[in-house]
Amino acid sequence: MMTRRRNSAFPKVVIERDTDSEESSSSDEEGEDGPEPETSEEEEKELKESENRDKKEETLVDAKKKGKAPITISLKKVCKVCKRPGHEAGFKGATYIDCPMKPCFLCKMPGHTTMTCPHRVASEHGVVPAPHRNTQNPVEYVFERQLIPRIRQCKPACVIPNQVSCAVIRYHSRRVTCLEFHPRNNNLLLSGDKKGQLGVWDFDKVSEKVVYGTIHSCILNNMRFNPTNDGMIYSSSSDGTISYTDLEIGISSSLMNLNPDGWQGPSSWRMLYGMDVNAERGLVLVADNAGLLYLVDTRSNNETGRAVLIHKKGSKVVGLHCNPVQPDLLLSCGNDHFARIWDMRKLEAGGSLYNLTHKRVVNSAYFSPISGTKILTTAQDNRLRIWDSIFGDMDSPSREIVHSHDFNRHLTPFRAEWDPKDSSETLAVIGRYISENFNGTALHPIDFIDTGTGQLVAELMDPNITTISPVNKLHPRDDVLASGSSRSLFIWRPKEKSDFVEKKEERKILFCGKAERKKPGKNVGDESEDDSDCGGFSSKGKRSKFSKKELICKSKRKVKR
Ligand SMILES: [Zn+2]
Ligand SMILES: [Zn+2]
Repeated sequence: MMTRRRNSAFPKVVIERDTDSEESSSSDEEGEDGPEPETSEEEEKELKESENRDKKEETLVDAKKKGKAPITISLKKVCKVCKRPGHEAGFKGATYIDCPMKPCFLCKMPGHTTMTCPHRVASEHGVVPAPHRNTQNPVEYVFERQLIPRIRQCKPACVIPNQVSCAVIRYHSRRVTCLEFHPRNNNLLLSGDKKGQLGVWDFDKVSEKVVYGTIHSCILNNMRFNPTNDGMIYSSSSDGTISYTDLEIGISSSLMNLNPDGWQGPSSWRMLYGMDVNAERGLVLVADNAGLLYLVDTRSNNETGRAVLIHKKGSKVVGLHCNPVQPDLLLSCGNDHFARIWDMRKLEAGGSLYNLTHKRVVNSAYFSPISGTKILTTAQDNRLRIWDSIFGDMDSPSREIVHSHDFNRHLTPFRAEWDPKDSSETLAVIGRYISENFNGTALHPIDFIDTGTGQLVAELMDPNITTISPVNKLHPRDDVLASGSSRSLFIWRPKEKSDFVEKKEERKILFCGKAERKKPGKNVGDESEDDSDCGGFSSKGKRSKFSKKELICKSKRKVKR
């Protein structure tokens, strides 16, 4: 299998803060979006930095006002991070310089800088690969000898969708939060955003798209198709409702509303995050920010049973996943630093089968897509964790892979997802937070990782996408990746294929809306500038490598299926 080392030709590490820029309505961002309500190191740095600057300015202004000779204060050059003299740290232009007193930004371990972190040089550093099966039994021996060589261990690099084939720029009015492919129509991509809107895009026809704006009043966190009617979709939102929407006409009904009396203050407001559909049992499962799980019967579309406390009281349950093979098994994860496995037949507080411990917030937890026996989790401590078998030792993960996905705010949390087409159940995709200085441009790759070895199989970058891509979805049947970056959507296909088979077909990039300008001033340290809100693609040609031929600008059209 081909593996690639992380790009070492451009050794500068750039850690961007708010690349995914939006109007900073920080009041609603905070608490809702942040993975946990702790001030992150980055923010502290920023605060200290501005404090220092302010103090300096004040002194000068005071001196001028009083008409006295300015008092010369010897501003000893101190580190902005640890405030000790002798070294400097923080942002220097677009490049972040580590404070030697603080642990590595990537692996959180002391003794080296982010730039020289061994995990950054090779993602498989420190990972013990999955062991091969023990073949003492003759049947297994024959099986391994005859069958195993024919089963691909991991997808070869050539079928990794590594080139942008089409895109809709500024499609959503706020950042994209989730993506879902239609279960039957191969070219239909659904997308949710921070405003609660639902997009339906036919990426084969590129300009056929619609955005439904009246389904939710804030963040659309998750969506799932009705298993018996793929024209209908369930969605959960931070407005505390589950909506059931007809994709053809965009009309939805509310199946559940946890805030029937509207806004009564932050303490009583309920938000719905994790959601999945259990087809065998005819249930929609949703979980809220108070640690509770709710069940909705898909036949009556009414809530059934009582809400069950499945995570720490008052903590967010961000992810739910039903086992693809065994419908009685449910996996949940949340802000209480746990992923938990449940038996659907006896759901009760404290009754989980296993509690998988993590060091920080768990953004996602998924059973493997085919056998359902492996588990992959993404936690905010910059670690991906893999449990090789739910029948084996569940006390500790089989492997931990260091990967940069810890961030501050204003981003949709990163989630590593399995490739649903990979029969070996090893390949996973996840966006990267830390950027590479790529010919002077900071790019945030989308990583394909072999979870069996920790190796980086591919890192996807496009010089035009300068924003972070936290939302990624692999197609269930085709070699297609959909990524959501800021307000834009991108469709990636394998490069080889498009070069030979579809040589004449150019990339189709569709621009929507206007590029919003940030307010002048108050922009210190933000290198992303105006590119940030248009998904990195500048419609004015700046840095854009797309010719005008590639631009198709049409007004919104309703999707026809
Ligand atoms: Zn320092
Ligand atoms: Zn490190």
